[in-house]
Amino acid sequence: LVSREVKPDDSIVRVGHLNIGGPAIHVIAGPCSVESREQIVSTAHAVKKAGATMLRGGAFKPRTSPYEFQGLKGDGLALLAEARKETGLLVTTEVKDTATLAAVVEHTDILQVGARNMQNFSLLEAVGETRKPVLLKRGISATIKELLMAAEYIVSRGNTQVILCERGIRTFENMTRNTLDLNAIPMLKGLTHLPVFVDPSHGIGVRKAVPAMMRAAIAAGADGIIVEVHPDPPRAKSDGFQSLDFSEFEKAMGEVSAIAKAM
Ligand code: PEP
Ligand code: MN
Repeated sequence: LVSREVKPDDSIVRVGHLNIGGPAIHVIAGPCSVESREQIVSTAHAVKKAGATMLRGGAFKPRTSPYEFQGLKGDGLALLAEARKETGLLVTTEVKDTATLAAVVEHTDILQVGARNMQNFSLLEAVGETRKPVLLKRGISATIKELLMAAEYIVSRGNTQVILCERGIRTFENMTRNTLDLNAIPMLKGLTHLPVFVDPSHGIGVRKAVPAMMRAAIAAGADGIIVEVHPDPPRAKSDGFQSLDFSEFEKAMGEVSAIAKAM
């Protein structure tokens, strides 16, 4: 169902008033985790001013270690809703399991399915039963084919509003957190009609290097970016080492929009 052979023209995912996968690129920005009202609302204002059209923020966090910050859960969802109301930005947050799916659906505009859940088939099926747009992230060691098959799980249940997201894969390289697979962008654009996003933050995992990968993603033909932005990255409760501060984000957005215009 997701193949270009079946449907040659690009699919547009409609999120509120936005058309994702159309001629304009879209940027989702915000902290890895929602931490406080002040943190999420100030970030929402800053990323909106810099040109982002959507806000990200994790409430249910799937952390590698069970001893790390697990997110504000339901309170995080409520804070995201407040930031949405104050700024008009659409919001996306990760749905970690089927038990919390209904609560997340109620509070978000796009359901994010995380890399660790890309082959959680029960979750994919449940997300496929909803009619919420989905940002499906590529698994840590998943092939392009496996990502497309995960999308089939959702689309075959009737939810056609799927955006794919390249977020870096595990390779032998350990200087970076992951290896952002830029190859995946033109490959996916050729193989599927679904919009393709890139997450340069998890893709490289090195704050200073994130803007270069934002530019590369757009130059390679991505429909949009999801990037981590925090008011004070060294103090972030998760992923501060790969989060841009407001001025770094604003500068990177200027560069990205110049590339998008030139294409
Ligand atoms: C995130 O977006 O903060 C996240 C956990 O991403 P991923 O699922 O790609 O690791
Ligand atoms: Mn993160």
